[in-house]
Parts: sequence; structure tokens; C-alpha cells
Amino acid sequence: MKIPLLKTIVCRRCGQIFYVCHQCWRGQAYCSDQCRDIAQLEAHCIAQQKYRQTEKGKQAHREQERNRRLRNSKKNVDDTPSTQGIDHDIILDNPRLTIPCCHFCGREGEIVDHFPRRGYGGRYSDPHFHHFL
Ligand SMILES: [Zn+2]
Ligand SMILES: [Zn+2]
Repeated sequence: MKIPLLKTIVCRRCGQIFYVCHQCWRGQAYCSDQCRDIAQLEAHCIAQQKYRQTEKGKQAHREQERNRRLRNSKKNVDDTPSTQGIDHDIILDNPRLTIPCCHFCGREGEIVDHFPRRGYGGRYSDPHFHHFL
């Protein structure tokens, strides 16, 4: 029986390390659809932050700041405890992960740095394809 080859992936959003087998590998960068969706939302926020760095955006931002300061001067802001930003959510404590298996289909396999290119046809055999990876 052929042992599936597994590639190590680090989720670009939550940083979780997982494995994907050759058959499930489609260039995944996230551990789940959820992480991918959130990452896309975050990318949208970053785009907005970039907008704020443009001249027009800076002006709009200054307006907002001034309005906020005007409001704050009338009424004291509530003291919010600074417990935000501490992330207790993601703690990898799963002993089953000592046996590497595909995150998507669950098959156990052997970890390789890169999947071998042989066996692919079509566009994958394009010698320029690897530049996109
Ligand atoms: Zn993730
Ligand atoms: Zn798989």
C-alpha cells in the first residue's frame, strides 16, 4: 500500500500547524474555511487601514478623531479594563497529532518538505508553474 505524502502547513491566520496529503492539497494556506473567511475579512480591514494612510483617508480619519474628542470631552470615557487581546482560544493539546495525518481526509502518512512533481499532468507539468507557489 502506498503511504500518502503529507505536507506541513501553518495556518496563515491562527498559526495552527496541520498536514495535508497530496490528494487534498490545493494550495491551502488556512486550516479551515473559517480561518480563510476571517483572514479575508481582516485583509479587508487592512485595506481600510491603508486607505486611512492616504491623504484623503487621513483627512477623513482626522475628522473622525476630532468628532470623537469633542464627544469625549463632554463625557468621560468608561474605564475599560485592558484584558482585550489575550487569546486563550487556540491551544494545541491533542496527543493524536503526534501521528501526522491529513487535516482534510484524515489519512496518516509520511511528512515531506515538498510534494514530488512527478505524476502530475497538464498545467502542473508547466516548468513555470512553481513560480506561483
Ligand atoms: Zn487556522
Ligand atoms: Zn487528505
